[in-house]
Amino acid sequence: MRNVIILGSGCAGNTAAVYTARAGLNPLVVIGHEPGGQLSITTEVENYPGFPEGVLGPDLVENMKKQAERFGAEYLWGTVHEADLAAPAREGRPFRIDIDGHWHETRTLIVATGASARWLGLPNEQKLIGHGVSSCATCDGAFYKEKKVMVIGGGDSAMEEATFLTRFGSEVTLVHRRDQFRASKIMLDRARSNPKIKFLLNTEVDDIHDVGKGHVTGVKLRDKSTGRVWDQEVDGFFLAIGHIPNTKPFAGQLDLDPDGYIVSHGGARTNVKGVFHAGDVQDRVYRQAVTAAGMGCMAALEAERFLEAEGH
Ligand code: NAP
Repeated sequence: MRNVIILGSGCAGNTAAVYTARAGLNPLVVIGHEPGGQLSITTEVENYPGFPEGVLGPDLVENMKKQAERFGAEYLWGTVHEADLAAPAREGRPFRIDIDGHWHETRTLIVATGASARWLGLPNEQKLIGHGVSSCATCDGAFYKEKKVMVIGGGDSAMEEATFLTRFGSEVTLVHRRDQFRASKIMLDRARSNPKIKFLLNTEVDDIHDVGKGHVTGVKLRDKSTGRVWDQEVDGFFLAIGHIPNTKPFAGQLDLDPDGYIVSHGGARTNVKGVFHAGDVQDRVYRQAVTAAGMGCMAALEAERFLEAEGH
């Protein structure tokens, strides 16, 4: 029986691990299907306080893990498949978590499972993942030296990925379905002032070629205002259209909003006493490394207080 199980090894999960481990609670951190979370697929992080010169995302998250391990946190490779958060847990019955077919019991649970990349849902998209279709420019950008690449999206991620890809690609086309952007002004201005980035606005992707050849050769685009349809040659196709919260195992047990994000019941509390949330799995507004870390800390303190109140 664990005092704390933390689901997720991103910024939120690792911070919760540092705090609960330092409090002597010997947390078990379940690494999840995206080890290190979003930070692990980012390059330079310039806005995490304490690093005046910036810090590499993977380094930041790895350091958090080392810090938690120093105080006794244990990390387990695996993913949560099912959760039993039934109400009687309040009367001493533990929560039960299925990690890759093995059930683990815990007195408190911190859900920091984050949110995963969203896909367009085009027929050929999934078939070409890893063969020109990618949701991570940082991971795959270097494969496209002197090649033509396309980025889809109008948020900060799209601007960041497009800007990053200009280091490799001969030409970067940013395709966005509207002419208004979600991206912050600084990121948008940076992308706009980069001569290698071309913007295609009010444009949607209808298809990706060419499954027959086994790799991306081009895309079919459609101008939403004129209806014009045309093919454009590209070698790399990068999605940056947001994320979907990883809450499937908790559906019907934790309160979720219509998009699947955990609904907060104040602080880091969920609707189930003893179950706390941290990071992007609940936060659809700020979604920053530092806010995820802050929530990880809050969830850890809540878990600590809950255990104390229950007499553990
Ligand atoms: P986002 O802000 O939600 O933007 C997603 C973009 O994808 C939107 O422009 C959206 O279009 C588009 N989109 C969504 N579904 C689509 C579909 N089916 N087809 C075509 N386009 C689609 O997501 P994000 O850019 O990943 O950013 C998430 C958060 O992380 C934000 O808070 C952002 O500030 C933060 N972030 C910060 C940094 C940084 O500061 N270094 C870097 C990356 C991300 P519409 O606009 O039309 O809805």
